[in-house]
Amino acid sequence: MNGKRMNEDTGKMEITTEWINSFIEEQLRIWELAKKNYSDLASVKRRKIIVGELEIFIQCNPARIISTSANITDGKAPQRPCFLCEKNRPAEQNKYEILPGWDLLVNPYPILPVHFTIVNRQHLPQAAVPDDIVSIAERLPGMVVFFNGARAGASAPDHLHLQAVLKNELPLINLAEKFHPSNEPGIKSSSDFGLNLPYLFFSGVIPPSPAGYPLLMAGLKIGGPDTDGKFIDSELVNSFFWKDDHGVMRFISIPRIGHRPSCYFAEGDERYLISPGCIDMAGIIITPREEDFNILDQTDLLKIYSEVAVTS
Ligand SMILES: [Zn+2]
Repeated sequence: MNGKRMNEDTGKMEITTEWINSFIEEQLRIWELAKKNYSDLASVKRRKIIVGELEIFIQCNPARIISTSANITDGKAPQRPCFLCEKNRPAEQNKYEILPGWDLLVNPYPILPVHFTIVNRQHLPQAAVPDDIVSIAERLPGMVVFFNGARAGASAPDHLHLQAVLKNELPLINLAEKFHPSNEPGIKSSSDFGLNLPYLFFSGVIPPSPAGYPLLMAGLKIGGPDTDGKFIDSELVNSFFWKDDHGVMRFISIPRIGHRPSCYFAEGDERYLISPGCIDMAGIIITPREEDFNILDQTDLLKIYSEVAVTS
């Protein structure tokens, strides 16, 4: 395919922005459902709400109803054939082995104009952030690769997978790059930023030296709080890894305390069909129902974040 060149150091094909675009174009050319859903994105409704110092977009995506309302209970395997296992995938869905054991797929229900699912070739549970997320992020220029913990927004907790979107689309990534510059290696808590933010997260800047390795390992292990308040519960986390415009590897980890907010289970006017995963936590809240999109306000968002993440 066009747009790949050989990286002389590693011997691997280097993935370029042109390759990414042509991979998506080829997929949409042969898959009517994906083509329709990507083309519908152009007319999706969006509005902005400022919560503290985080800019949040509410996005009305009717096609996401399947994922938002996935019938999952506390991270347990859903009762349905696994749609990420290769034998059950649609015949039209192309794949590219981005790393040994991992297939890059175009997500047929996109939230953003470039939206990949990166699926492990084995049917393993979504138990913890896989180390391979770092090498996959290294290979995808301009993109952020992220992991929804099994009890933190994953709609397929039974099959190990990642997702990737363009990094500049996510408000939280832009905020971390602004307030935790590339030349300040280390791990910071969002409380160190001195900003008014709706939830706690950790930001890591990894120097390209041996000193970076323990920081990366620490970042991979951050999870939700256990009963002692240590951030180690690997199923309760939203983790993001990406290379910034200076070529520096970075991460954000958001500890979670719950999978879905109380409004998801409420009835009548109290109900909002919102099931936050990485993208929602990073500042793009998906509302499949228009009635939710129209009335959701800053107070609702603060409540939702406080029920699923750590506030400090
Ligand atoms: Zn599977």
